[in-house]
Amino acid sequence: MNIRVHNIKLPIDAEINEIKSVALKEAGVKEKDCNAFKIAKQSVDARKKQVSFVYSVDLELAKKVKTNGKNIIELIKEDEKEVVCGSKKLLHRPIVVGSGPCGLFCALTLARKGYMPLLLERGADVDTRTKAVQNFWQSRNFSPDTNVQFGEGGAGTFSDGKLTTRISDPKIMKILGEFVKFGAPEEILYKAKPHIGTDILKNVVKAIRNEIIKLGGEVRFNSKVSDIVIKDEKIRSVKLSSGEEIPCDVLVLALGHSARDTYEMLFNKGILMQAKAFSVGARVEHKQQFINEAMYGDFAGHKLLGAADYQLSYRNGDDACYSFCMCPGGVVVAAASEENTVVTNGMSYFARDKENSNAAICVNVTIKDFESEHPLSGVKYQQELEKKAFNFGGNNYNAPAQLVSDFLNGKCSNKFTSLNPSYAPDVTPIDLNNLFSERVGKILSDGLRQFERKINGFTKNGAILTGPETRTSAPVRILRNDELESCSTKGIYPAGEGAGYAGGIMSAAVDGIRVAEKVISIYCV
Ligand SMILES: Cc1cc2nc3c(=O)[nH]c(=O)nc-3n(C[C@H](O)[C@H](O)[C@H](O)COP(=O)(O)OP(=O)(O)OC[C@H]3O[C@@H](n4cnc5c(N)ncnc54)[C@H](O)[C@@H]3O)c2cc1C
Repeated sequence: MNIRVHNIKLPIDAEINEIKSVALKEAGVKEKDCNAFKIAKQSVDARKKQVSFVYSVDLELAKKVKTNGKNIIELIKEDEKEVVCGSKKLLHRPIVVGSGPCGLFCALTLARKGYMPLLLERGADVDTRTKAVQNFWQSRNFSPDTNVQFGEGGAGTFSDGKLTTRISDPKIMKILGEFVKFGAPEEILYKAKPHIGTDILKNVVKAIRNEIIKLGGEVRFNSKVSDIVIKDEKIRSVKLSSGEEIPCDVLVLALGHSARDTYEMLFNKGILMQAKAFSVGARVEHKQQFINEAMYGDFAGHKLLGAADYQLSYRNGDDACYSFCMCPGGVVVAAASEENTVVTNGMSYFARDKENSNAAICVNVTIKDFESEHPLSGVKYQQELEKKAFNFGGNNYNAPAQLVSDFLNGKCSNKFTSLNPSYAPDVTPIDLNNLFSERVGKILSDGLRQFERKINGFTKNGAILTGPETRTSAPVRILRNDELESCSTKGIYPAGEGAGYAGGIMSAAVDGIRVAEKVISIYCV
């Protein structure tokens, strides 16, 4: 019999044997009747700064025991349903556009079933991309097709590599298993908040790419899809910016939330889409030590805890302000994907050992904030904010920045003394109230004041805001039906974050597999 024992709360330095014996005692089982033991979940309980770990443990038992449906449940192994190939013959190999988590897992799933997909990526391979991104951060040489948003691995490659998600889907554990198979540490299988950092993520992305190729797929970098050919409301081919035309009858668009030129092309081709709400704001930076103490008290800095994180939110009617994509022990990065724009995001390495912590503090924006209901009005809203920030920063990719305390008092900061802003190439002190709309500025201030109540000193101690953060999710939804196919064009499958069906690495990967399985269930090779 296999059971899972939940809610085993122990001091953070409890040894594995102690965890096992407590689980056995909970289940009323003797050691001799336990064939196997595994930690299924480990989470941190830091309420009242009395920090302990809470475990869920799996036990394989030699005999049946009583379960209570609460903290002791029976584990029933469900066999994964094999997707049966469809009967509609594919004339051409399926094309997947975009090598972010959605495109990669879509292509991997198709390749495993022998569909030999062609994966097209506008940016460079991850090694070349890393050099281009470093070159931008250090020397302001911006590359429009290879940057923090575009290139092998997609938007999340230069990230904290947080593998948390709000969706619950059986594919989540499968995807975490794939990450481990391709080089991620085993701990992601049981940590409540798994993360792998940009350093490990880059190698995982490469390993998945090599697996797709080994299985007969093809991966092409520096291959931007700049046009599509539709006839009788059905996709016929794609055209690359090189001029090459490639026929296809299945096209998966896993473009990400920053492919504005491609959104425009698709809109002009009559692909049905609509504007979608998202959030904007700025990244707040603190000393990581301050956050560790605020969250863990005397346990701050304990080697088994690592860098602390936080999650904050404030709501006033339809207005919301919340912390997003927190990067403990990380840096604020220049995440622009268009010339003469400034965009921030966060990144950290697996060790999360940098001096500062950062998180986006964001405010929801909806069609009401956009100029019109045009499907691309959200894109325009983002662009204008990013161009304004570029100008405020000094037209050199410096990002506007300000002490949180000065932002709350509406005055420009002179210099940043107690904390070094981590954004590269550099920051320019300005009053961010002049960057955002009055509505966004007000809600940001209200939220920050609320967060000061939750974490004492959150708006003080030299805390810095650097912005703008605009790429929190896609500003567009490309409409698809229950068959996951475009509502306007047969053979096109809009997928992942860019199409408005995911938010984050994990949910994008889930959507990629979902779309691949749909294609497999309809078509055969
Ligand atoms: C700096 C940063 C940090 C982040 N941190 C995290 C995190 O810690 N955890 C988390 O869950 N999420 C994080 N995210 C969000 C996460 O990266 C995205 O949600 C996820 O990558 C979306 O996956 P996707 O495959 O749908 O799209 P993307 O990853 O955006 O991939 C889309 C790909 O399509 C390519 N493409 C676009 N247009 C074309 C075209 N015309 N032709 C060919 N190729 C094209 C792009 O170059 C890109 O590589 C972060 C994002 C950023 C930018």
